[in-house]
Amino acid sequence: MKILDGKLAAEAIKEELKLQVAERVAEGKKVPHLAAILVGNNGASATYVAAKVKACEQTGFISTLVRLESSVTQHKLLETIQSLNEDPDVDGILVQLPLPAHISEQDVIDAIDPQKDVDGFHPVNVGKMVQGAESFVPATPLGIMLLLSFYKIDTSGLDAVVIGRSNIVGRPMSVLLSANTQPGNCTVTICHSKTKALAEHCKKADLIVAALGQPLFLTADMVKEGAIVIDVGITRVEDATKKNGFKLLGDVDYAGVAPKCSWITPVPGGVGPMTIAALMKNTFLACSRK
Ligand code: NAD
Repeated sequence: MKILDGKLAAEAIKEELKLQVAERVAEGKKVPHLAAILVGNNGASATYVAAKVKACEQTGFISTLVRLESSVTQHKLLETIQSLNEDPDVDGILVQLPLPAHISEQDVIDAIDPQKDVDGFHPVNVGKMVQGAESFVPATPLGIMLLLSFYKIDTSGLDAVVIGRSNIVGRPMSVLLSANTQPGNCTVTICHSKTKALAEHCKKADLIVAALGQPLFLTADMVKEGAIVIDVGITRVEDATKKNGFKLLGDVDYAGVAPKCSWITPVPGGVGPMTIAALMKNTFLACSRK
């Protein structure tokens, strides 16, 4: 069993971006600028945004963090997005999800200029991704593709199962894995909460991406010998022994599954850092396209 070390691969990507930023500076070109909007005080969201801001510092990007109260109106949030859309210095905009219940996530996603939509959630970018045209690809599935590339894993012809069909992870992941690319060229089955005999699908899979948000869901009896397993899940579970009062659990029962795998991602240190590295890549692309 070998580990797909997302921390290592993410560091390598950020290091490369840092050099590319330095080159831009030397040529008198603009430095990439990411603007992040955080609504409310959700602890996990604040942690993710802080990690993104830190990654900007590491790579030499400029970052702007806009914090809004959880009571902010949708109108005010859309106005904030509009002003960032119009700001020529801002290359990428992300709105950290989830949003409070009184705000429509779809309206917010639709309001972001597709040229600055570095999360790749805008319908224009989703459509381009499905067509295989150049677009911003959602950061988590893109990060997984970059991780597979980093370890030179040939996925051509593999039977892949993606568990979860969200617009953020599962659905775009299924599109990317089935594309005529390397990595890609998989035969993809997408499983979800209504799938019958999910374990049977998994048992036949050469590659499994678990993205359902159910801690330790994928167990050893559901995985065939030699499979590649990617664990996207991050769930905070109370743990009094930890300083911050919680531990992070993935969707994979790592202790049981890992010995059967050819490759596996750990949690933490797998997909999480790759998501951030992919976001940085998208922001650099947004800047260099101008
Ligand atoms: P989501 O809740 O939007 O979607 C979950 C999907 O899983 C749904 O499509 C649902 O049909 C499916 N599902 C739920 N229970 C199931 C079951 N018992 N059997 C089969 N399918 C089931 O979640 P999401 O935004 O896609 O995130 C999934 C997980 O990935 C969460 O733990 C989230 O925190 C994590 N995540 C991690 C990263 C990262 O960078 N590592 C990024 C995004 C999301």
